[in-house]
Amino acid sequence: MCGIFAVSGEKNGKAGEAVLKGLKKLEYRGYDSWGIATQEAEKIVVIKEVGKISKATPNFSSSECAIGHSRWATHGKVTSENSHPHFYKTVTLVHNGIFENYEKEKQRLIKKGHIFTSETDTEVIAHLIYEELQKNNTPKDAVRNVANIITGRFALLVLIDGNSQIIAIRRGSPLIIGRTQNTSYIASDIPAFLEYTNIVNYIDDDEMAIVEKGEVEYFDVVSGKSILKRDIEVSWKDEVLDKGDYDHFMIKEIFDQKSSLASAINHSDEEINNFIEKLQKGNGVYMVSCGTAHKASMSAEYYFSQIAKRKINVVPASEMPAFEHFINEKTVLFAVSQSGETADILEVLEQGKKKGATIISITNVESSAIAKISDNHLPLRAGKEKAVASTKATTSQMALLLLLAYADSKRLNEGRQILQNLAANVNEMINPRYEDHIKEVAKKLSDIKNIFIIGRNSLYPMALESAIKIMEVSYIHAQGFAAGEMKHGPIALIEEGTVCIVLGGDMETISNATELKSRGARIIGVAPERDKIFDDWLKVPESSCAQSIVSILPVQILAYYLAIERGLDPDMPRNLAKSVTVK
Ligand code: GLU
Repeated sequence: MCGIFAVSGEKNGKAGEAVLKGLKKLEYRGYDSWGIATQEAEKIVVIKEVGKISKATPNFSSSECAIGHSRWATHGKVTSENSHPHFYKTVTLVHNGIFENYEKEKQRLIKKGHIFTSETDTEVIAHLIYEELQKNNTPKDAVRNVANIITGRFALLVLIDGNSQIIAIRRGSPLIIGRTQNTSYIASDIPAFLEYTNIVNYIDDDEMAIVEKGEVEYFDVVSGKSILKRDIEVSWKDEVLDKGDYDHFMIKEIFDQKSSLASAINHSDEEINNFIEKLQKGNGVYMVSCGTAHKASMSAEYYFSQIAKRKINVVPASEMPAFEHFINEKTVLFAVSQSGETADILEVLEQGKKKGATIISITNVESSAIAKISDNHLPLRAGKEKAVASTKATTSQMALLLLLAYADSKRLNEGRQILQNLAANVNEMINPRYEDHIKEVAKKLSDIKNIFIIGRNSLYPMALESAIKIMEVSYIHAQGFAAGEMKHGPIALIEEGTVCIVLGGDMETISNATELKSRGARIIGVAPERDKIFDDWLKVPESSCAQSIVSILPVQILAYYLAIERGLDPDMPRNLAKSVTVK
């Protein structure tokens, strides 16, 4: 959460402009406010504003070095005082994460006479670094000492008056350096600097980088000793991160599913079997994930149960502490994540590692912290997902999880065949005509207040996922239920015209849908065949055990067009951000 970007050694004096441009590419990580500090000849100049950075056109004076931040507020309202950079006397900084024990330090500093101008945890860090500098510590040691005080995950970039360095430090939140001959870039994610370089160094936890006039040195935070970093060439192409002819990343990424499903299962038999070997070692498998990935994991619970006769315990990562006592050296923790940086998941994996649990994961970002901590990892290869609402990464997770369930039952080839057919069917299904049809359905629904979604078996998690997709981008209240559960309570809410999306065309689900129709519900059916109770029909191919994967696709398109019809920006829904790196 939050985008951090900095430039050092910008010889044309355009560091401020470069940071602005880079931050715009990271805006999907947080977009309630933004700010940039430029290091100018005599002083550090800070500009900060509430609102989206994509709309900003500030002017900068000449500067070779600048740091910037696009915020997703955790502590303190969305105001310009609370936005970053924060500063205290000679110290200016940007921060991603949460300083969990900030209140105690803040109260101590207030007693000493310090005055705070914001409500944030971040500002306290600036005061603490200043305090350390007053003790005649070098800037490097001042930042190291403060890192030892902070509990929680963070990434920090610090500027100090009269010093041309940027001090970058990481514990738990992503921080990557991009290098050219004269200039260095520091970012929470690679797209921010990919137009300049694809040579990167990853800063690991408890490491710091000191960047001065474009040159970088790396240090271990605990010992303070210098460390060497390997240059890594990343292969992403800048144009892949572009919207192309699409109006939004969300719809582009929905259409990317024409090819992303095939990439998700494009792992060798050996890679799949090695992964499954680790899973089979476990005496108790816990699948941990958050949000949409959690709904994909819930579908996988059905896949593994029905195909491999294996019980997988699917728990939202934030709820795992309640089950912690079950975790031991025989447990397998199976993480499912798009970004691979989700703080709630990392917390579970780190605790599990300490207890000797085996960690396996599937993530879209191969270089992520979750991938690194894992004993075995498989990438999703869905390509960069930028829209906040996950679409292609979700279906890639489900496709790979389904393949793994087949591998677990020693029927890998059969699984491959089913998924290859699915990928071909999806490629055919999502076309402009299909999109136009769903757009028309969305037009009829744009004024409604509530949508209910029902599904049975592995379509039940997709009913929950459909609700997330609709709510997060269109702000229409949506709720998913197991098809058979409606009659146990929620049916009380059905009245004339209540919109219900029915996933699946099997007899039992249709029977449940008929109960809703009898009470006035307007039914949108997502099924291979049209049923007479459907007021609108979103056709999906018959896909046997992969039905959950194809069924979410039309709902993704519907959610997108509901947002468009209501004049909303589906790529940046309010209060949300991509990759949730705070607890
Ligand atoms: N905790 C800090 C704040 O609320 C940083 C949040 C972020 O990562 O954007 O300002």
